[in-house]
Amino acid sequence: MATEWQMPPSTGQCAAGDRAFEPGDAFRAYLFATPGGYERRDYCLACAPPAGEAPIASWKARHAAPSAPRRRALDVETVYALFEGLAADGPPQQRQLRFVLALLLWRRRVLKLTDTVQEGEQEHWRFAAPSRGDLHVVERPPLAEEEIERLSAQLESLISGQVPIDAVISDASGVANA
Ligand SMILES: [Zn+2]
Repeated sequence: MATEWQMPPSTGQCAAGDRAFEPGDAFRAYLFATPGGYERRDYCLACAPPAGEAPIASWKARHAAPSAPRRRALDVETVYALFEGLAADGPPQQRQLRFVLALLLWRRRVLKLTDTVQEGEQEHWRFAAPSRGDLHVVERPPLAEEEIERLSAQLESLISGQVPIDAVISDASGVANA
């Protein structure tokens, strides 16, 4: 799975193998943390990842028509909903995802970096969401700059091209084998 990070955003079929998506079909995309980085799998609404494989996040979307021009733009509402749904004190993989999502939002000027705070070994980045009046304190994960860059690019390609329905994170906090 180490090279999966270059896979296309959607395979067009349920990862459980029971059906191919038709244009307009709703599905849920699940994001997993793997040794190679993030991996995404889409399941139809009747299926879910096997128990024991806990996703770090998920979102609902619709399958686009194959003839439609591919929408590569990142939907900031989806990203913001994912970001907001992740607890600041969640498991390490979720805290890492939270930081990477904050970077994506910062680059799109949804978030504004106000300052960074060093507390012992831990660095926190503080972001404001001016249009929403929100403030977020985000833990910087203990990763090298280029690793963060790689995860960020990977995540962006996994999330972009979505036609989100609810843009809601549903189970990001239920990582402990629900
Ligand atoms: Zn299915």
